[in-house]
Amino acid sequence: MTNDSRKYQRLRESMVKNQIEARGITDPKVLAAMGKVPRHLFVSEALMDQAYADHPLPIGEQQTISQPYIVAHMTEALRLGPDDRVLEIGTGSGYQAAILSRIVFRVYTIETIRSLHMRARKLFDDLNYSNIVTRYADGTNGWKDESPFDAIIVTAGAPEIPMPLVNQLDIGGRMVLPVGGRLTQDMVKLERDEDGIHQSMLGGCRFVKLVGEHGWDK
Ligand code: SAH
Repeated sequence: MTNDSRKYQRLRESMVKNQIEARGITDPKVLAAMGKVPRHLFVSEALMDQAYADHPLPIGEQQTISQPYIVAHMTEALRLGPDDRVLEIGTGSGYQAAILSRIVFRVYTIETIRSLHMRARKLFDDLNYSNIVTRYADGTNGWKDESPFDAIIVTAGAPEIPMPLVNQLDIGGRMVLPVGGRLTQDMVKLERDEDGIHQSMLGGCRFVKLVGEHGWDK
């Protein structure tokens, strides 16, 4: 192992301890995944030294990679298991998809900006994360051919809950997404059971816009 990766491993361990565990994340699968995925490879070279810091970072195209704690919080809220098939809307850097892929059977992730989609795809291949399926499309319509999903995560802020996504959630399925205004949103959790959809709120958050047919206009 090179000095460099030892350095990043140390930063990663301290991120898990001081940002994630310290704020109450306990799911061992989430902690293990966050301790393993090389977050510094998901940002540009100039930002690598900041990759494990307690804030979001720009990834180009006016988009951002979420703060590590937010990634952990949303992932834990999905209550994932090893057989789950998960849909993510908003691949971005690919970091959230990478975390999910270390926990579940398969991740389907959709990105609407071509350059980000291409970069994430290459990184997944380089890292041998072979259970991530990527698609360049408007994710607000979901991925009907692969539905239903055990879990759905939206990593961009929606003006309202996109109904195609709710319809692609399996019975027993969980979904988390930021819903609200252009600048700030509430993190919403939906759960589907035999009786229908149950909704709960996980707190305030700040995401870039979900742009598409069932999102914001361009
Ligand atoms: N999960 C990402 C966060 C990326 S920021 C990560 O871990 O880095 C949100 C991303 O959602 C942006 O890349 C943006 O282009 C994308 N996005 C916005 N609207 C979308 C849509 N309708 N379908 C798919 N992706 C969308």
